[in-house]
Amino acid sequence: MHFSVLTLFPEMILHTMNTSIIGRAVERKLLSIEAVNIRDFAFNKHQKVDDYTYGGGAGMLMQAEPVYLAWASVAGERKPRTIYLTPQGKRFDQKMAKELALEEDLVFLCGHYEGIDERVLEEIVTDQVSIGDYVLTGGELAAMVMMDCIARMVPGVLSNSESGETESFSDGLLEYPQYSRPEVWHDKSVPPVLLSGHHANVAAWRREQSILRTLKWRPDLLRTAGLTNKEWALIREWKKKMKESEEGTDSSGGEEMV
Ligand code: SAM
Repeated sequence: MHFSVLTLFPEMILHTMNTSIIGRAVERKLLSIEAVNIRDFAFNKHQKVDDYTYGGGAGMLMQAEPVYLAWASVAGERKPRTIYLTPQGKRFDQKMAKELALEEDLVFLCGHYEGIDERVLEEIVTDQVSIGDYVLTGGELAAMVMMDCIARMVPGVLSNSESGETESFSDGLLEYPQYSRPEVWHDKSVPPVLLSGHHANVAAWRREQSILRTLKWRPDLLRTAGLTNKEWALIREWKKKMKESEEGTDSSGGEEMV
């Protein structure tokens, strides 16, 4: 898979993306990442790429032509999927990452200042994507968030021990809690079921914990997580117990719910 990033700060992309798991994938040629400096396509001697906005108002805007030329230098004859990082875009999530991971080539366009002249966006951008409802100073961090997440889905990028199959959102739920050695740390023991060696019980416990976590922290995910009737019944029971313990009427005498 090939990522091209159109940016005013190519060093930011290259330094960060060439480390850890993604850096290893680049070395193994499973991925290639190219950072194109939009400033190299400025048509004035000071390599200025921004100007005032028509109609007034504070802040500068990135001009259309250097952005267009930078894009054309990577796009060639093809029209690759071109993602403009913007707080106004569709919210990025695991589902979108999975879909984008099917592409061979992705171009990320990073804005700065007030953003980019609308006319060039209309010509080259296929997707407008936001990483959340907040405003960053530039699109580089957002592009790196997306590339990191998409790259993990490219076959071979994660080793078996780093497999993404059971991670949060893979089955629509948050991942269950995990523990490593030692068995007891700060008087806290690893849940006994995980030491039992009984695979079916471990799997059942993990599934329950995933559902419970999702209920506590991201209940909005439950509706689309494909839960069974039995699991919904369990949720109703947990909710009842949560309510009772909030009201101080917990008949179990404050015992742990699961
Ligand atoms: N004036 C723009 C607006 O109000 O929608 C915000 C511009 S922002 C200061 C500068 C650049 O940062 C944007 O062009 C975009 O590339 C990037 N950016 C800021 N917040 C972002 C977010 N939540 N997701 C993705 N990119 C973002």
